[in-house]
Amino acid sequence: MQKTETRVRFAPSPTGLLHVGNARTALYNWLVARHTGGKFILRIEDTDVERSREEHERQLIEDLRWLGLDWDEGPETGGPHGPYRQSERLDIYRKHTDQLLREGKAYRCFCTTEELEAERQKAIAEHRPQVYSGKCRAISQSDSDARAASGESFAVRLRIPEKPLRFHDIVRGEVEFPNETVSDPILVRSSGVPVYNYVVTVDDALMEITHVIRGDDHISNTPKQVAIYEAFGWPVPEFAHLSTILGSDRERLSKRHGATSIASFREMGILPEALVNYLALLGWGAEGGTRETFTPEELIHEFKLERVTASPAVFDFDKLHWLNRHYLKLADPARVLDLAWPYFEKKGLLPAHTAAEKKIADWFGKLIALFLPSVDRLEQLPEKAQFLFHFDPAAAKASEENAVILATEAAQKVLAAFAQRVRTHQGAVTPELFKSWMNEIKSATGAKGKELFHPVRIALTGAHSGPEFDKLIPLLEEGSPLALPAHILSVRERVEQFISA
Ligand code: GLU
Repeated sequence: MQKTETRVRFAPSPTGLLHVGNARTALYNWLVARHTGGKFILRIEDTDVERSREEHERQLIEDLRWLGLDWDEGPETGGPHGPYRQSERLDIYRKHTDQLLREGKAYRCFCTTEELEAERQKAIAEHRPQVYSGKCRAISQSDSDARAASGESFAVRLRIPEKPLRFHDIVRGEVEFPNETVSDPILVRSSGVPVYNYVVTVDDALMEITHVIRGDDHISNTPKQVAIYEAFGWPVPEFAHLSTILGSDRERLSKRHGATSIASFREMGILPEALVNYLALLGWGAEGGTRETFTPEELIHEFKLERVTASPAVFDFDKLHWLNRHYLKLADPARVLDLAWPYFEKKGLLPAHTAAEKKIADWFGKLIALFLPSVDRLEQLPEKAQFLFHFDPAAAKASEENAVILATEAAQKVLAAFAQRVRTHQGAVTPELFKSWMNEIKSATGAKGKELFHPVRIALTGAHSGPEFDKLIPLLEEGSPLALPAHILSVRERVEQFISA
């Protein structure tokens, strides 16, 4: 088998949602392939028929695509080493099992569950490692064949060599497991189902994988896999085991710590480029620097497995949010508009995107420009813009903080002067007009700064702090004539309602 190019794979089991740990594994594999000009292979490990679901596979693929990852070989893509779903490769495994049995590298184990359990209990009692005794190793070929032919059920075990099992790990260096801790592993269960360690090795070898990059929860499986490569006489690939991802309490990251599935991050309005950037930094850093923001192209250029750290990475939601803010600012406004719309539509604040007039989309674009700098995630936008759609002057007056501001004589004078100008003006209020009114009111009342602006802001928005008037005024005035599910009150309507509340 000639290995001329780097070939890596991501091999998810379609038993649930794609989480950050596996997504990082997929990303690192993809980066290695793209950095080296090699191939990235997607293989679906669905031999666990009880837990594997087609819908999980579909969602997995959707999540990987959303992250911007692409693969050169895979279930739908095809390729020279297919099929790429393990459930479609059972014949291949069977053929290889026959070969190992024929060559004496594997043997049939006729031990019953009860016998194995009794062995295990004995080992516990004697404080020995709970590994298989190797009892069936000694059964002669002819006896074994005869028992199998008579219908006795059996598992297939690998005959493991009497030597320590070692492998080289790019992240951890030399890893060695003493032989006593690794018993003759089962390759095929008595039910006929081949086990993970076996199929993963057959597939990695036949698919000519050069670098196995995966989570370190598989590190104890690796010696068994190495023994399988050796039994077949196949070259052993390089391994890179990625550290566990922890929560802020340094426990293994789980739902308890917050969202961990890729789908949930997408639903929150995290951009894929932010998540990719974040996941890349979760256990890797570019050479000679503290740089934190990388586009996918920059990651491809910079990424090297040698710079992946062995120490566990702590998932930092704040940093992810910070990166998302960064990418939201850089993103094309039309794209942000498309992504933000459903959050408003779901809350009944905007009509269906497809049916909306251009005027509404233009107005919504301004709304986003105004509020985007103050959010970490798109899902927070409706809340920030809530006061535009639902103005509640009574609640604004009732708020304790506002009441203190409004109770002053200066505030009363400012509001009266402002209302008088709004009432006598015909047509829309422009930012320029607003500015000149405020200047006039300043000279007429002597109020300035907060005294001047806070009461007006409360009357227009319900709160004493918020977005710049220059951008806010057009949003109110231009929103008012639009046919939206919730009518946007103009400056005049707001002031009237506020005064009479
Ligand atoms: N299907 C295995 C998993 O999802 C793959 C492990 C591996 O990469 O070898 O954990």
